[in-house]
Amino acid sequence: MDMQTSLLDRLFDSGLLIDTGVEGLYGRSGAFEDVIARFERLIDAYGGRDGAEAMRFPPGMNRAHFETSGYMKSFPQLAGTVHSFCGGDADHMNLLQCMEVNGDWTKDQKATDIVLTPAACYPLYPTIAKRGRLPAKGGLYDLQSYCFRHEPSNDPARQQLFRMREYVCMGTQEHVTEFRQTWMDRGLEMMAKVGLDVTMDVANDPFFGRAGRMMANNQRDQNLKFELLIPVTSAAKPTACMSFNYHQDAFGAKWGLNLENGDVAHTACVGFGLERIALALFARHGMDIATWPADVRKVLGYQD
Ligand code: ATP
Ligand code: ZN
Ligand code: MG
Repeated sequence: MDMQTSLLDRLFDSGLLIDTGVEGLYGRSGAFEDVIARFERLIDAYGGRDGAEAMRFPPGMNRAHFETSGYMKSFPQLAGTVHSFCGGDADHMNLLQCMEVNGDWTKDQKATDIVLTPAACYPLYPTIAKRGRLPAKGGLYDLQSYCFRHEPSNDPARQQLFRMREYVCMGTQEHVTEFRQTWMDRGLEMMAKVGLDVTMDVANDPFFGRAGRMMANNQRDQNLKFELLIPVTSAAKPTACMSFNYHQDAFGAKWGLNLENGDVAHTACVGFGLERIALALFARHGMDIATWPADVRKVLGYQD
């Protein structure tokens, strides 16, 4: 086999990922999905001890909540909105004629009330704020969602529609920073158990534009974001497979999340990139799960 065969080609050839003709938009085989399901059971084995409230939102969120989140200020380049045809018969005729001549038939589509979810935790904050003050012990939530980011790439680890499993913690500064540290320790332990090489590093989000560079520097200087990096397509440039984010009281203030005593809540979230973790496993242990190391198979619950 050609040594230059890329990981993406190997994934296509083995049928683990299914080409759709769009970069970063893939189908997944049953075996690929099964790896994700098994890794999620491992996440449950760690997170299940903590009594998090599980919620599952669809991959689209309330556009008004998206607007309040400020996502378009920070990451306009990544957002995806849902637009639909809302016209009458005459508009429909125009639409079909436009398509007939390969014109831009999408330009008359109207924005709906739905925006694609950019991170699993986005629908959570307004949901919790609506309940009123947080309970005395704070809040802990277990989320999983397909997320959209407009970042087409031929790197199989950079997809446009991918799943994020998250735990989100709300409470005092001490409470949420301890939560984040606990998951940093757990993340390292979990990845070691499945035979993956990891490094932890401080990171920043890709804030847009010139003002964004200052926000990114500030995020780094204050150690607000860490990433757990694992080799996927390159050992020299490992991929972020988990992130650990401390928002200080920014989300608490924005959404009106308050502690029992009325103080603004601090929040933190930890995210697992489920496709990236599966891809790291295939890149490390090979495309054939039957030949993965026995200890790794055991941790993931495969029968021998
Ligand atoms: P990167 O720096 O690689 O763009 P990120 O900082 O944007 O990652 P987060 O916003 O922290 O990532 O998202 C949480 C997790 O979701 C990441 O740690 C990663 O595992 C996963 N993730 C992020 N973007 C993608 C993507 N385009 N495709 C697949 N997984 C992703
Ligand atoms: Zn989050
Ligand atoms: Mg990114």
